[in-house]
Amino acid sequence: MPTPREEYDQVFNLLEQHHKWFKESIPLIASENIPSPAVRETMATDFGNRYAEGWPGERVYAGCRFIDKVEFKCIELMKKLYDAEFVDVRPISGVVANLAVYTAFTEPNDILMALSIPCGGHITSGKKELGGTAGAVKGLVVEYLPLDYKELNIDVDKTKKKIQELAAKGKPPKFAMFGASVFPFPHPVRDLAEAFHSVGATVGYDAAHVAGLIAGKQFQDPLREGADVASLSTHKTFFGPQHGSILSWEKHAEKLKKATFPGMVSNHHLHAVAGLTVACAEMLEFGKEYASQIVKNAKALAQALYERGFEVLAAHKGFTESHVILIDITKHGDGGTIEETLEKANIIINRNLLPWDIKEGRHFMHPGGIRMGVSEVTRLGMKESEMKEIAEFVKRVIIDAAPLDKVAADVAEFRKGYQKVHYCFENATEAYKYVRIR
Ligand SMILES: *Cc1c(COP(=O)(O)O)cnc(C)c1O
Repeated sequence: MPTPREEYDQVFNLLEQHHKWFKESIPLIASENIPSPAVRETMATDFGNRYAEGWPGERVYAGCRFIDKVEFKCIELMKKLYDAEFVDVRPISGVVANLAVYTAFTEPNDILMALSIPCGGHITSGKKELGGTAGAVKGLVVEYLPLDYKELNIDVDKTKKKIQELAAKGKPPKFAMFGASVFPFPHPVRDLAEAFHSVGATVGYDAAHVAGLIAGKQFQDPLREGADVASLSTHKTFFGPQHGSILSWEKHAEKLKKATFPGMVSNHHLHAVAGLTVACAEMLEFGKEYASQIVKNAKALAQALYERGFEVLAAHKGFTESHVILIDITKHGDGGTIEETLEKANIIINRNLLPWDIKEGRHFMHPGGIRMGVSEVTRLGMKESEMKEIAEFVKRVIIDAAPLDKVAADVAEFRKGYQKVHYCFENATEAYKYVRIR
């Protein structure tokens, strides 16, 4: 039996091993990113040990003198980044932001329209039968937004028809959730907002994945296109700490504030609010350059994989307008096995359902697709030429069946040139350096 001290040492040993592994790997998970050393520093501060229930300036707890100043600044910078009238930075994640949004705008048994999970939708807008947050937690009835498989986007005409059909049955949608976890092209918010509003629905936009691209002016601007509210994660294309936020209009401020607190959070991870504030300043300064490089890199990676024989979807429209690409991998195996094989070669991606997978009898453990995102490698300073090198590593593993330990060693060697975080004010500490303060 290990002693408590040995258990304790083991944890740090595992953490250090993790840092070393990521330092030597190519991180391509579309929902992940690497924060700057400045953001990491905020996460180790005493803010993370405090409570500040309520709105800054009207707290339930004492001790918030400096916490309030930071949170006000966070709100102010987020408003500037998104040109939003109202911002709530207290949701502790994207899921919690969506829960607060549902609380503010819906009642149990209302109809929510969103993309299904195989079509790129997120579990927060999933049906009750699937354990999805909207159905299982909020009691909403989920109707799917129709996806055009070829265009990898919401089908506008079919959606309009479905809204009319639901309205005719006396069950019009109460809330429409645009946005997705596989989100290569801007959604037709502008084309559909009026159709939803005309039946009394609120138009929501889940910007979890694309928040950094919107802030960097490289993607659609949901609030200007007709969205009433947008929720986001602060750590996917946005390079902050893991947290969430809500953007909306002043007229919805009171109900959203109440939905977040006391509805959804008690403490709201004040160290992460500080980290988000720092990330906002970085985004204001470097966001445009960063986001435009992300889109260039995603297109370059897709093109390089396509040229090496991979079936990257939506080739006819340039593969992607965001950070993410989706690949039909069925020629080479199943997504689950491919994910495991690539991981052994230090290439970290995730398996992903293709829109037609369920109909073809595949399931989440062994789907037909893999997803790759380039946010993190972009933040490490990689550009289009490095995307070709990454595609070559992937080809060696999947098509050439090269020895995995050999590829892993070559990946580690390649990574030696990319150890600093870019698009930030200070980067003295390397991206994955294990920082010890014990
Ligand atoms: C990741 C994601 C979320 C949840 O975000 P967390 O911050 O992980 O809670 C919500 N919606 C979509 C579309 C996502 O991809």
